[in-house]
Amino acid sequence: MTSVSNHHCLIIGGGIAGLLAATVLQNSGVRVTVVDKGRGIGGRLATRRIGNEQLGQGIFDYGAQYFTARDSQFLQWVKQWQKAGIVREWSQGFHTFDGALKIDKESRYIGTSGMRGITKHLAAGLNTHPQTRVTALAFQENQWSATTESGDKFTADSIILTPPLPQTLQLLETSGIFLADDQAAPLQQINYHTCIAMLALLKSPSGIPEPGGVWGDGLPIQWMADNQKKGISPAPAMTIHASPDFSAANWDSDKADIADQLLSAADRWVSRDSLADYQIHKWRYSLSTVSPGMPYAQLATPAPLLLTGDGFSKGRVEGAALAGLATAEKLIEILDF
Ligand SMILES: Cc1cc2nc3c(=O)[nH]c(=O)nc-3n(C[C@H](O)[C@H](O)[C@H](O)COP(=O)(O)OP(=O)(O)OC[C@H]3O[C@@H](n4cnc5c(N)ncnc54)[C@H](O)[C@@H]3O)c2cc1C
Repeated sequence: MTSVSNHHCLIIGGGIAGLLAATVLQNSGVRVTVVDKGRGIGGRLATRRIGNEQLGQGIFDYGAQYFTARDSQFLQWVKQWQKAGIVREWSQGFHTFDGALKIDKESRYIGTSGMRGITKHLAAGLNTHPQTRVTALAFQENQWSATTESGDKFTADSIILTPPLPQTLQLLETSGIFLADDQAAPLQQINYHTCIAMLALLKSPSGIPEPGGVWGDGLPIQWMADNQKKGISPAPAMTIHASPDFSAANWDSDKADIADQLLSAADRWVSRDSLADYQIHKWRYSLSTVSPGMPYAQLATPAPLLLTGDGFSKGRVEGAALAGLATAEKLIEILDF
């Protein structure tokens, strides 16, 4: 059992919201630590490899596929990442399921080596602890204390929680930290669609046209990407996201059955014979469905405890980033840095 202390702020969740909040806090002199239960840091900015002796590496973005930068504050960050070679503009539109090209002049950005590359870049300058699931919070001896699954303890003057809201509310309840009814009500409304993702390593290129993305019709495909045409995968590698309805209806279905149904629906773009290998990933939380219209919630606790993340925005990378940034600014004000 280890104990990590002497921090001004502990951030639970190392997705884009937590990492950007941590960066801004650290830049202001706040001593900050980020913990995340995932194998790596990054949350729903997720990139995975499937290797094959003959085909080489298939690299898949299987969470967020691209992001917008409509807000000028966020655009500044994106420009910095572009300069550092971490991010590039992918496209201003994609094909629709009926084969038409739909361009709407809105820039969509991606990580040049996959979306996880953005969070790796941010995490490189921070004190981060992956594979660290917080199971309980307590306020003791004038400090927050977070206990992890493996019995480790992190103490800090303040806490920012960034997991999807249902997980955050569950952790607070388990810890005996209760919100006032009028604060809890809008947060309890926040919900997320589930999303089943299929990662398909192909023997030959898919039929998805340049730039490599297709907006689905939701019957049952929501989105498809050719990660090779996207420029992140050496081998032909396709990501298929199922619609919320299909994902909910097939949550407990056999993986082979899910793959079979998704490949049948995608047969116009990919031949079944070209499938070399595949994985199915089930996202319990993908896009949030309701926003409370504020970037964070501050609890009435003896020391600062703030909740944020994409549930506070409209469930997108840009919204999560802005929520994280606003939360950091609020904490800097509270801690008087
Ligand atoms: C399939 C899919 C497709 C998407 N497509 C797009 C898209 O194309 N464009 C777009 O803009 N957005 C998209 N999104 C949404 C986008 O990915 C999210 O809005 C954004 O990444 C959320 O960032 P976040 O930091 O708020 O949360 P997260 O990235 O979820 O980070 C929260 C972190 O908290 C950690 N955590 C949870 N509980 C604990 C605990 N008890 N202890 C420690 N750590 C914990 C989790 O492991 C996680 O890493 C998509 C999401 C999914 C899943």
